[in-house]
Amino acid sequence: MKNDCLFCAIVAGEIPSTKVYEDDQCYAFRDINPQAPTHILVVPKEHIASVAQLNEENAALAGHCLAAAAKIAAQENLDGGYRIVSNCGADAGQTVFHLHFHILGGKRMDEKMA
Ligand code: AMP
Ligand code: ZN
Repeated sequence: MKNDCLFCAIVAGEIPSTKVYEDDQCYAFRDINPQAPTHILVVPKEHIASVAQLNEENAALAGHCLAAAAKIAAQENLDGGYRIVSNCGADAGQTVFHLHFHILGGKRMDEKMA
């Protein structure tokens, strides 16, 4: 756990969140400021700042989070599809520097991504 990291504090239960899924390696909760009817964040329990910090040693954790995202999307009945987003760095709009995957769904997405 990293001091002063919002998502480490959420994983530790020190800051409340609306949990939708948890296992030994990841935690998922509803985004506080949803940008789609369903907006969930999936985070590894281990602190990794962003995709830029992934390497051969820890990349399996990201894969685990994506497999969890697939389970969560099914649980949330996002049968029509959904978008997975991971903002990496300030230019991409990353505001919390603990790796997370946004699951966005429940509406028809624009083709434009940026
Ligand atoms: P990003 O901009 O990709 O770093 O995403 C950070 C996300 O965390 C944003 O969508 C915020 O709305 C969300 N967020 C910030 N604080 C909280 C919180 N306490 N609980 C749930 N989601 C949060
Ligand atoms: Zn963290």
